[in-house]
Amino acid sequence: MANTSEQQDLGFDPDALRDKYRRERDKRRREDGNEQYVEVAGQFAHFVDDPYVEPGVEPGAREPLTDEVDVAIIGGGFGGLLAGARLRKAGVASLRVIEKGGDFGGTWYWNRYPGAQCDIESYIYLPLLEETGYVPKEKYSFAPEILAHARAIGEKYRLYDNACFQTEVTAMRWDEDALRWIVETNRGDAMRARFVAMSNGPLNRPKLPGIPGVGTFKGHTFHTSRWDYGYTGGNSNGNLTGLKGKRIGVIGTGATAVQCVPHLGEHAEHLYVFQRTPSSIDVRGNAPTDPSWAAALPPGWQQQRMTNFNVLVTGGLQDEDLVNDGWTDIIRNLATLGRPQPGEEITPQQAAARVELADFKKMEQIRARVDDLVEDPATAAALKPWYRQFCKRPCFHDDYLRTFNRPNVTLVDTDGRGVERITERGVVANGQEHELDCLIYATGFEVGTAYTRRAGYDIVGKGGIKLSDKWADGLRTLHGFQTRGFPNCFFMGVTQGGFTANFPHMLNEQSLHIAYMIDQATHSNANCMEPTESGEQGWVDTIRQMAVFNKRFLEECTPGYYNNEGKPGQGNSLLGSQYGGGPEAFFQILRDWREEGTLEGVEFS
Ligand code: NDP
Repeated sequence: MANTSEQQDLGFDPDALRDKYRRERDKRRREDGNEQYVEVAGQFAHFVDDPYVEPGVEPGAREPLTDEVDVAIIGGGFGGLLAGARLRKAGVASLRVIEKGGDFGGTWYWNRYPGAQCDIESYIYLPLLEETGYVPKEKYSFAPEILAHARAIGEKYRLYDNACFQTEVTAMRWDEDALRWIVETNRGDAMRARFVAMSNGPLNRPKLPGIPGVGTFKGHTFHTSRWDYGYTGGNSNGNLTGLKGKRIGVIGTGATAVQCVPHLGEHAEHLYVFQRTPSSIDVRGNAPTDPSWAAALPPGWQQQRMTNFNVLVTGGLQDEDLVNDGWTDIIRNLATLGRPQPGEEITPQQAAARVELADFKKMEQIRARVDDLVEDPATAAALKPWYRQFCKRPCFHDDYLRTFNRPNVTLVDTDGRGVERITERGVVANGQEHELDCLIYATGFEVGTAYTRRAGYDIVGKGGIKLSDKWADGLRTLHGFQTRGFPNCFFMGVTQGGFTANFPHMLNEQSLHIAYMIDQATHSNANCMEPTESGEQGWVDTIRQMAVFNKRFLEECTPGYYNNEGKPGQGNSLLGSQYGGGPEAFFQILRDWREEGTLEGVEFS
């Protein structure tokens, strides 16, 4: 136990808190891990129908394509757009973006729920701001502005030319005679491509809880990433007038629910929020962009700001904190305390203990904020998160907690058990049925499942080998980009690269690397480029060795997609399969590798 005077200074007992975190984690641990969710396919496939396409623009309205391009880019989100932009800049004329949605935007195409906003500062999140000459309107952009920016990138780099929207890849096969990829789609296409860049998105496949009765509800129902404004009325800014007189249920209290619940609470006759684990909710504090600040930005400002943020949120030092928000504040505090003071020597254990203490203090603030904002003490108690920062994605919102003060909003806390059952009439939680007119799943997206399942298609490489088989026991890549046996195929996203809180930053670095690789291949006489056996093994070993640093922390965490639903080290845990040395170190590895120019670990044939 911590001694009493220490407890008095801190205002809490660290040992008791540690125990409490473990008890809360243990309530939520479950044998089935990722298997607790059902895939949105088969009888649930309608949950992923596109509600945003123009009426009448149905798939199949064009002739199937069998033509050839130099580069096919799968996915029209920021990853695909960045790859397209960099390749265009490198002089690639023949390219095609293939996208499931009806337009560019990826995550921001699909996630149009009311209140959708990016909680990473807009000036570092929106890619290619200097190149497109755009300055976001606010420090934290709402979804429509981000979607418009995605379209602007598509326009600027002529990525609409030749693009195939509403087109879902169904299979990809390496033709060993022609040395081309054959990309098949749900529109009967069999396109050919010399290179393929895959940017399918890490959170692209919605998931539903695999509980008894899911799918049986007779009222209206949808997933947050396919918001049905035809039913709710309004738009992404709110004004959900269609909910007048309606009893609405939301399952889930992650980052998505935190943003849409205030709008639902404002318009529903009654809103039930079904909670398994509360999120940690800090202050948002949005602000309009100061035009004089924007006008004075020097060339190169965006990259500098992105790097400054990235260094700070991975525990590094910078003279100035340019973004200066909840993210940098949390991590600066943790990192500063874990670092020895000048002239001081501390063991790694002492450093870890100090970081833990700083974490406890921050989470105590988060819990105190709940008491400040939520009037009913029992509801406030249930809304308090009992885990360390970064066990789950921290959330920032100024209205979410106060929504529970409304008389028409009920928090149905399940004390870590989750909802029990879905019936024709509504949702059963804690043994009680709640009758609903509409049930909204804010239950997130698949993360730890097989890469090919999330992509929605398998890839057949040299000698008929399937990617799902090759990666059955975990990812195997060189630098996260390529895997042996699948020549000229590049992966973007969270495949053994450098994980960043600011996702487009990583995608930007990946796009630069892919453009370099394709340029190298194009200017050599080789037809195929793939990792050597030893190059790939070396990177897999590096990833495994470095992942150890994170493992203990993830094991202590409450289950979630960051730790493979409580099973870190197994499957494709999001953080477990990334370069453990941090993104800046990873980007430096890539830059050094390119500078060296020997393409070590890559084989041309
Ligand atoms: P999450 O995976 O974060 O949340 C899913 C929610 O569903 C959790 O609260 C989970 O509870 C709950 N849940 C699952 N099964 C059950 C069950 N049987 N009963 C009750 N509750 C259940 O998905 P989100 O869509 O909220 O967010 C996904 C990610 O998208 C974020 O982490 C973030 O990376 C990104 N995002 C970013 C935003 C931003 O920038 N502002 C906004 C929105 C999303 P439990 O925690 O117990 O598993």
